[in-house]
Amino acid sequence: MQYDAVVVGAGYAGAVSARRLADAGKHVLILEKRSHIGGNAYDFIDENGVRRHEYGPHLFHTNSSRVIDYLSRFTQWYPYEQRVLGYVEEKLVPIPFNLTSIERCFEFEKAEHLKDALIETYGMEKKVPILELRKNPDPEINELAEFIFEHVFKYYTMKQWGYSADQIDPTVTARVPVHISYDDRYFQDTFQQMPKEGYTAMFEHILIHPNIEIRLNTDANELLEVDTEKKEIRFENEKYDGIVIYTGIVDSLLKYQLGELSYRSLWFENETEDGDYQPAATVNYPTPESQHAYTRITEYKHMMEDPPKNKTTIAIEYPFEYIRTAEKGNVPYYPVFTEESKQKYQKYAELIKPITNLYLLGRLSEYRYYNMDACVEAALDFTEKLLGVNENSEKH
Ligand SMILES: Cc1cc2nc3c(=O)[nH]c(=O)nc-3n(C[C@H](O)[C@H](O)[C@H](O)COP(=O)(O)OP(=O)(O)OC[C@H]3O[C@@H](n4cnc5c(N)ncnc54)[C@H](O)[C@@H]3O)c2cc1C
Repeated sequence: MQYDAVVVGAGYAGAVSARRLADAGKHVLILEKRSHIGGNAYDFIDENGVRRHEYGPHLFHTNSSRVIDYLSRFTQWYPYEQRVLGYVEEKLVPIPFNLTSIERCFEFEKAEHLKDALIETYGMEKKVPILELRKNPDPEINELAEFIFEHVFKYYTMKQWGYSADQIDPTVTARVPVHISYDDRYFQDTFQQMPKEGYTAMFEHILIHPNIEIRLNTDANELLEVDTEKKEIRFENEKYDGIVIYTGIVDSLLKYQLGELSYRSLWFENETEDGDYQPAATVNYPTPESQHAYTRITEYKHMMEDPPKNKTTIAIEYPFEYIRTAEKGNVPYYPVFTEESKQKYQKYAELIKPITNLYLLGRLSEYRYYNMDACVEAALDFTEKLLGVNENSEKH
């Protein structure tokens, strides 16, 4: 078959793009190097009857009605709001750190004082990035900021990223701001629901289409060749003029000619326990590495609509430096945003730009952090432009 498009990767970016192109009458081939679809959102029911998220806990949350409408074509939902606790001075307190966390960490009068000072300075329901809070000159707020930094951010950031909070892009710590509120939900989005039959089933429905063919266990880098001199792509050794949508990491696509991009990896130790293990789906351990080498423990059963009673599965999460050839840490999870890595990515993107039928999409290939909803939105935007632009033969 002649394919109008080759899509690399069957995660959100690849699957939504492929479906949109297929719905527009294009014949699409998806190459996926793993043995399953769904990308990092892949889930399955394990031996304990628990829906396990193989690549870490995935909670769907969004404010975009466009994304909800699109995905609701392929799944039903059940409500689920994520709550996270953090292990701080041997107590469990809400994360993001909030007014309840202050009450649990300080004695009554001091806690009242600190809460009043925060509310007066920033206002109720405000979210304040920790690096901003630390700049507050008020001695009382500053003392609180240092406490939160020390007990919630300092060691967690070091363990998670391998860099200290001031070496890494400020947007990283800003993702979990201090929340001046009693709302202990991890997200505040209006739509917080999980796919009723799981993420993998939702992906199956997205990808079942007569115009879509999927090859699993297939590394695209063995079939696609990008020639930056001739500005062309070869697929299975022949020049390919169709659309290529690439959602993997770009350094490997270009044979590492500018060196390797930095990613952070994770390793999950899955264990079976009896009954219930912990009081929340996720408990963070923002402690020094010498105390807990892991960053968090997730008990998936809390996220299920109808969890099993007797057994439970927990995932203990260890961050690792991403090394392609390592036994643990060989899966790229998060781009590491240092100045050097951002510049290297830009150079790769420049090399690819003149190849007008090659498009980079998704969290790995765009080298950015996407939540699932943002990734769906990006794929919808992208395909809309592509299909519109195709008629005029231009690249956006
Ligand atoms: C631990 C963790 C927890 C997260 N939790 C949440 C959450 O709670 N809520 C939320 O909204 N978002 C969450 N996310 C983000 C979410 O995972 C991403 O938004 C989403 O996975 C992005 O989809 P994608 O298609 O860009 O990438 P991916 O899901 O990574 O899919 C890319 C696919 O491409 C394949 N691929 C790569 N290279 C090749 C190649 N050379 N050949 C063939 N196939 C290839 C990969 O195998 C993969 O299947 C989390 C991310 C992580 C890492």
